[in-house]
Amino acid sequence: MPVEKLQFQAETKRLLDLVVNSIYTNKEIFLRELISNASDALDKLRIESLTNNELADDFEPEIFVLPDANTKTITISDNGIGMTRDEVINNIGTIAKSGTKDFLDKIRESSNAAAQELIGQFGVGFYSAFIVADKVELITRKAGTDSAVKWTSDGTGEYEIEDAQKDNQGTIIVLHLKKEFCGDDEYNFTDVYELERLIKKYSDFVRYPIKMNFEVKDKPEDEPSIEVRTVNSMKPLWTRNKSEITREEYDEFFKQQLHEWEAPLEIFHVKAEGTVEYTALLCIPKRAAQNLYYSDYEAGLQLYSRHVFIMDKCKDFLPDWLRFMKGLVDSPDLPLNISREILQQSVGVKVIGKALEKNILKQLSKMLKDDRDKYQEFWTQFGKSIKIGVYNSMFDTKAKDALKDLLLFQTSKEGKFSTLAEYVERMPDFQKQIYIAAGKDAAAIEALPQMELIRERGLEVIYLTDPVDEFTIETLHEYAEKHFQSITKENFELDDAESQKVKAEVEEIAKTQGDLLKDVKEAIGDAVKEVRLTSRLKSGAVCLVTGADSPSLTMEKTFAAMNNPLFKATQILELNPNHAVFHKLENLHAQGKDSSEFKDLCTTLYSLALLIEGIMPNNPADLANKITDLLTR
Ligand code: ADP
Repeated sequence: MPVEKLQFQAETKRLLDLVVNSIYTNKEIFLRELISNASDALDKLRIESLTNNELADDFEPEIFVLPDANTKTITISDNGIGMTRDEVINNIGTIAKSGTKDFLDKIRESSNAAAQELIGQFGVGFYSAFIVADKVELITRKAGTDSAVKWTSDGTGEYEIEDAQKDNQGTIIVLHLKKEFCGDDEYNFTDVYELERLIKKYSDFVRYPIKMNFEVKDKPEDEPSIEVRTVNSMKPLWTRNKSEITREEYDEFFKQQLHEWEAPLEIFHVKAEGTVEYTALLCIPKRAAQNLYYSDYEAGLQLYSRHVFIMDKCKDFLPDWLRFMKGLVDSPDLPLNISREILQQSVGVKVIGKALEKNILKQLSKMLKDDRDKYQEFWTQFGKSIKIGVYNSMFDTKAKDALKDLLLFQTSKEGKFSTLAEYVERMPDFQKQIYIAAGKDAAAIEALPQMELIRERGLEVIYLTDPVDEFTIETLHEYAEKHFQSITKENFELDDAESQKVKAEVEEIAKTQGDLLKDVKEAIGDAVKEVRLTSRLKSGAVCLVTGADSPSLTMEKTFAAMNNPLFKATQILELNPNHAVFHKLENLHAQGKDSSEFKDLCTTLYSLALLIEGIMPNNPADLANKITDLLTR
């Protein structure tokens, strides 16, 4: 096949643009990324060869890193699985992660420093080659095939792909270094000792030998002057004693092993010798992956048996809501050639999984108690997972109990996040229920007319601003024997004496206004279930509330946005009998319920109640006409 010129996928192009115009301050990490890929390719070949005898032949896994000052290149090669032509096009030319576009949009809008943080959660893997190289060649031959391909790109719009010659399976990557990395400036990546230092720093735990050529001085003429040496120690970090491992070593390990770009937020290093013997080295990453809650996110832990890699992304250890956890489990009690199917049935896996889950929950509780700032950081990234965890444990009281104290919510009082226990602690004696309100964000809830009196009475409301919040709260049902009560539901009332007095007064007025309320309802039609008087407003004239068992308006909106009309809220319009507009309504009603002025006022009030909730009325132009009419009258 002749040389083919292909375009990068649009997203890849933009990502490459970011990498080339290097937003990375740390230029060294390209080596770690490429060695990681090489190590993964060796893992894949080893796993393949367990079932495919043809691949097993004298396979001596190794990674070579060869700098060359003359050609200003670094060559990184492995004899791993390699890639076919199609795989090269699919793996190297495209990014298949969900949310890539959103992510790139976000980066475009942010400053350089913020962009660098963002890209960390995304990871650019192979593309990091373009941090240091202005041209990259990749020659690869898939194990079990005898044809090779060569891929070449300068990291701008396109790449070339052509047939190539290669003697064995695996991948060779040649980086043509930009001149600032060849010794003129701060970096000299053509220097063998410089690269040796980087490998020791970033890739020491790689399980395969990383070899380099070293020049040997003062050798007799007849002996070779080049010596091949393995640079990394290859000793798995998790087999070492906890007390001997520094935080830096852990950090580098996770970066290398899990393609993390930032040091993890929290580390779990667990050794157990019970019925099942295992070592686990897990972490909570610093940041949630861009696609963490998308279906294409691949959760799971790496699995080792007697330090030998068995499989990646093993989902059977931890429940799905802990999908953000990363790391590995090494257990001699799991057989080497275990299949995914057998794994699912394995008692050992279940025992280890349960113990790990318990350990994670314990450590999170401890973090919440001892280091609130750190927990807050965790919550910002992964709080949604805990909430999903509560929801998923709907029928498992024990699991629910373990999770409910890990929840944080924003409230009307603190300005910062509160646990449910802290909220309950602050409740005045007369308050019987935990007040909640759902909304798009804190500002939207604070602006609700229902909030005025609550604020005035010094009471506190928990804000539910994430769509999953309402489900979580519904699943909990109660906390510390106190029920949750939405302030925007029909059955909400304030418990203090003053409020109860106002309520009784309003009930008295309501007795005499039955006809009026019936006619207002008639004028508005079936959109509302009921029109009634309220004691929950002070300066506001109207508000919309929902039925006690109905979903909230916020939930209805969320589901409508997902084209799911299943969640329909039952609307109830409430009028403030102490507001001037109510007296106007009474006067117009006295002139006749069929007058257009009365009807207009009714429908306008309803439209306004919708607007307060951020809902567009059915007839905005009509509403605008009515209001301009009123303004000019
Ligand atoms: P990631 O490693 O996070 O998947 P990369 O951009 O680093 O992302 O690599 C993309 C894909 O290209 C890898 O998933 C792998 O399938 C393939 N790949 C990269 N390097 C190699 C290599 N040395 N040998 C075989 N396949 C490779």
